[in-house]
Amino acid sequence: MYEIEIQETFSAAHKLEGYAGKCQYLHGHNWRVQVGLEGEGLDDTGLLMDFTQLRAITRGVLEELDHSYLNEHPSFRSVNTTAENLARFLFERVAEKLPAGNVRLTHVRVHETDRYCATYRP
Ligand SMILES: [Zn+2]
Repeated sequence: MYEIEIQETFSAAHKLEGYAGKCQYLHGHNWRVQVGLEGEGLDDTGLLMDFTQLRAITRGVLEELDHSYLNEHPSFRSVNTTAENLARFLFERVAEKLPAGNVRLTHVRVHETDRYCATYRP
């Protein structure tokens, strides 16, 4: 089994609803996102998937969140903008855009800061 992972970043504001602490107030992060996939077979070039292809798919998904207020995004009107929920949202969006083939999305990890991250795996 082979695995590859790429990293991308985006900037966005949010606040946590129903949370007693500093994160209940409007603030922003430079979010770091890791997207990983796995598969058993390599193509003729010896690649599981071209990093640049996975990066382009991920960038396309992040584009709709970049420089936005996440709480106003339609997918987060009734879902809190935690790193956990963002990871699941990004997983589902990236999975939809992956080309059919022998690769499977394994996880999306979202870093709020250098110290804190959350991972979604189905
Ligand atoms: Zn935050």
